[in-house]
Amino acid sequence: MTNGHSEPKSQAFSVASRLNGRPAPAAGVLSADARVPGPGERIRNPWEVVKQSELDDRLDKLDGKIKRKLDTKMCRHGPKGMCDYCQPLDPFNAGYLAEKKIKYLSYHSFLKKNNSEKNKPELGASFIPPLVEPYFRVKKDCPSGHPQWPDGICSKCQPSAITLQPQSFRTVDHVEFASPAIVDGFIDAWRKSGSQRLGYLYGRYVQYDAVPLGVKAVVEAIYEPPQVDEVDGVSTNPWENQEAIDGLAKLCGLEQVGVVWTDLLDAGAGDGSVVCKRHADSYFLSSLEICFSARLQAQHPKPTKWSDTGRFGSNFVTCIITGNESGEISIVAYQMSNEAVEMVRADLIEPSAEPETMLVRDEEDDDARGGRTRYIPEVFYRKVNEYGANVQENAKPAFPVEYLFVTLTHGFPDEPKPFFRDLGFPVENREALGEADQPAAAAKLLRVNDTRTSSDGLKVSNFHLLCFIHGLSALSKASLSTAPEFPSLPTPHPARARANTNHGPPVQDEEKLLCHVATQHDLADAFQLRSTPGWQTLLMILQPAAASKIIPTKKRPRATAGGQGGAGGGGESSPPAASRSHAHPSPPRPPPPVPAIASGDGSSDADPDERLAKRFAAVRLNPRHDGRDVPSPHARP
Ligand SMILES: [Zn+2]
Ligand SMILES: [Zn+2]
Repeated sequence: MTNGHSEPKSQAFSVASRLNGRPAPAAGVLSADARVPGPGERIRNPWEVVKQSELDDRLDKLDGKIKRKLDTKMCRHGPKGMCDYCQPLDPFNAGYLAEKKIKYLSYHSFLKKNNSEKNKPELGASFIPPLVEPYFRVKKDCPSGHPQWPDGICSKCQPSAITLQPQSFRTVDHVEFASPAIVDGFIDAWRKSGSQRLGYLYGRYVQYDAVPLGVKAVVEAIYEPPQVDEVDGVSTNPWENQEAIDGLAKLCGLEQVGVVWTDLLDAGAGDGSVVCKRHADSYFLSSLEICFSARLQAQHPKPTKWSDTGRFGSNFVTCIITGNESGEISIVAYQMSNEAVEMVRADLIEPSAEPETMLVRDEEDDDARGGRTRYIPEVFYRKVNEYGANVQENAKPAFPVEYLFVTLTHGFPDEPKPFFRDLGFPVENREALGEADQPAAAAKLLRVNDTRTSSDGLKVSNFHLLCFIHGLSALSKASLSTAPEFPSLPTPHPARARANTNHGPPVQDEEKLLCHVATQHDLADAFQLRSTPGWQTLLMILQPAAASKIIPTKKRPRATAGGQGGAGGGGESSPPAASRSHAHPSPPRPPPPVPAIASGDGSSDADPDERLAKRFAAVRLNPRHDGRDVPSPHARP
């Protein structure tokens, strides 16, 4: 390592090590979609039982053939004829993709390519699911009948050697931010504080025409979960209302499509330029970031009819906002490979102190769970050596991370038509940044004190505002009685209680109507929303916020979004499932406190020692005793 590189590298490592201060839940235990079977579990005739996305159903039906014009030099036939030089190309045609500079096959092109190789209907063989997910764990229920691993293992149930290959496809080809304002508002957190920020991308998947049978993720909003931001990294805190936010997004026609974080450092030139930390001579994605994103992808499996497990990879994307080689703030987008996700699921790898290197774990490593629980198969990768020969290398103890992810393109639409058009509502969980009071801002946007009937629509087209309104529980939710995700409602709001006890006509879903108004911008719907009892309640709740001027309050324990405390206290130890049992926010209560800008250590009121432990937990992932030089984490600034 040269001196020139050591500094950015160690800097980068400290960023990475705090990205996921909280150990992610064991992937695989979580089944994000009930229709998807457990990992590795085979199902018969998945094409009959698996429900996949409408987009996938639609793309399945297309052949994706690329039409060509007659070749004036080579074609020797009339206008209606066809020959090798003019017949349509397959969507996976290597020459076409190279010509268009498309680096990877789209998922549906890959599927069609595999299908054409595996299934030859003309031979009359039975249909084989064309997609196979990697599986690197010891198979359960071994037919040999010996005791379950780790008490027994045989050649039938042990995973075979792994030869890592760069992945040739990606399940999402392109990330499109519906408007530059979405990214700009997110970067603002860094501009105001100099600290990094992490957010979850809410959007939708649509066909992407620039790639044959391609898919793009269109991002409409970035939700910023509870976190502690620092100059060199982010620690995430438990995100207790995640299910509520997911549910609200669903009412808007959106879902979680990925994650984004900043890695920005002002270059100090006074011109707004930033340091380029990530480049060909350092790294693009650190080993710790890869493990973090791989876990998230494992939690968002993609259901498919064409894999024998009913799932294949994930549509979840990872974006990083960082400095490019020109010193400008830019976006980069990635997906972890299926092999990377399975290696993380199988607990085979762990991040290294060097961001560009991933470690293969030792079977003997002591584990918090105690005992020998993992079986580490042989792992190889191929590389071109110093003599120019393509050789197979043993990946133990460490291997380069570039085998573990694919790159995506990204951009903005030529004519932005974002779902959310009302800018300026304060973003959630930014108390530490001294962002304005949400209740007061809502009262202003919704013109609580303005008694004049106005002819224009409601200013509710803002995802952060919707999240805030949801937290007040003023609006009725028709799905409430049937929705299992909101099991307990300790103190139902009068409006809702009234709605629920009404055995007459079905309850109007005011919240759904609100989301409709926010995303579809329909004036008639806005008038209907205004006339609902829930809306009147909402205005009433906001009355005090509208009347009082914002008085900066002293820093107080942070009110959790739910106002219940509950699972929050446990912090680290609470499983994510805790959020599921988390009660709905209680109705009218005083506006949450507005903490002053934090002095130094961020704004979290969590026990500093506990936070420290979280940050160091990531580093402790490297309990190696083989003499490898593992730098200790940086001291706190
Ligand atoms: Zn021809
Ligand atoms: Zn066996």
